[in-house]
Amino acid sequence: MQAYKAIVILIISLFSFSSNSYAVYLYNIDDEGSSVESLKILLGEPTTQELVVAKLNIYQLNNEIKKLEIPINTNLVVSSELISFETTDAQAAVWQGRIVKVNKGGYIDNVFQNSVDSFVTLIRADNRLTGMISIRGKIYTIKPLDEYRVAIITLDSSKFPDEGEPINVPDTETSPVAPPTDLAQTPFNPNATSEINILMITTPEAFNQIGEANYRGFISMAAKTLQQNALNTNLRIRYTVSDIVTNIAERGRNQHQLLAAMQTPNNELGQFAAYQRNRARADLVQLVVAYNGVCGLGNHLDGSLHHFRYWGFSTVWHRCVDNFTHVHEFGHNYGAMHDRNTEQNRFFPWGFGFRDTAVVPGFSTVMTSCNGCSRINMFSSPLLAPNGRPMGTTMEDNRRVVDQTRHNAALVFPKDPGGPVDPEYPVDPGYPTGNYDHVFPSGLSTYRAGTRVLQPRNNLIYECRPFPNEGFCRQWSPASPQFEPGFGASWPQAWILR
Ligand SMILES: [Zn+2]
Repeated sequence: MQAYKAIVILIISLFSFSSNSYAVYLYNIDDEGSSVESLKILLGEPTTQELVVAKLNIYQLNNEIKKLEIPINTNLVVSSELISFETTDAQAAVWQGRIVKVNKGGYIDNVFQNSVDSFVTLIRADNRLTGMISIRGKIYTIKPLDEYRVAIITLDSSKFPDEGEPINVPDTETSPVAPPTDLAQTPFNPNATSEINILMITTPEAFNQIGEANYRGFISMAAKTLQQNALNTNLRIRYTVSDIVTNIAERGRNQHQLLAAMQTPNNELGQFAAYQRNRARADLVQLVVAYNGVCGLGNHLDGSLHHFRYWGFSTVWHRCVDNFTHVHEFGHNYGAMHDRNTEQNRFFPWGFGFRDTAVVPGFSTVMTSCNGCSRINMFSSPLLAPNGRPMGTTMEDNRRVVDQTRHNAALVFPKDPGGPVDPEYPVDPGYPTGNYDHVFPSGLSTYRAGTRVLQPRNNLIYECRPFPNEGFCRQWSPASPQFEPGFGASWPQAWILR
């Protein structure tokens, strides 16, 4: 049966080369790696719905690879095109692609509207390949077995444990662990990009489970998906992620105990965290753990610089990075909360996650989840509709919370010291008060002279120019955005800023 699978894939591969000379097959499905020790661990995970072993065809990722054919199993092949290629500070090569076609047993699906829920991320680090493929929110991961082989895993996201209830921090003036307070501050500019430094501290238990050879790929994937969340949510945040492995063992402590220890100065984990945070100039700190009782835990903060400085901590079980739990816990630090039906948000009444179960399969944003739903790596927002359906409501608007508080998070260790202003309280960028007909680009084909659209990338309103220019207003696609209001090279030909 396994040999048969390998033959089938090779035939598809040859056909693909003849019909499209640019497409490269990333790997061939092959079961010869089944004796690898790490495979047994992956097979034993409850989240592993299906696992296929494959032998790599390409060993280097670069920007010469424009198209990739990526088999998930013998019945499912993903066609992806390069969006961006970068080499990170941590010596990882990141190939980011959009999905253009999925071939499922001969049935071709090629209507993919966005790269928010449908994307391919491949990372080459320490000569190993790590990857994540999302097809409309359904997640498949690529885990390295050795330098030549990978496991392709169909994830059952419903088998991840829940995240723990976020922690309410005490209303005290001082906190056990905080960086020095005499740092210079930068003036707040709502249009500026927030430079947020993240430190991930990995426990020795988690490090052993991830595996030394796979660790660089793991951290790179965590960093990439965190940055992707900001892009998906149109948030002006640039993350810099650094990491360190500690030799302070978990010794069976649960995540509550580890989180408490991390922010207590007379504790060795607290001393380590405080020292490393200052050294890395990290605004937020997350502990990567092996304990699997919950997916993660984070402090729920009020968005003030004071809170970020004293309580900007969270934990994540390394396995749950595949379910964006690391992003979820940073979300609590920013002030975001879960589901408005079951929870309260003490600080931001509009700060809840969003779920849409009116479609099949349903989906949720990163701060919540629902049975059988795909979790999309973005914060809720009524202004964003990557699939044509709004990803939030007035009260389910965690994007607004993060946009209010991100500048204070960035000020724990300012990137560019010098200015005198210290905005202690979050600043609400607000929403435009003018009327508009559509949130760009929804309803694109109906735009006429006088149509007003809200551009969610800058919260400004634009009005379509009269004839003979109105036709430009309807001309937009991700590949040809020249008339995109406020951003396309030729937008003033089509639009008037209101
Ligand atoms: Zn949570």
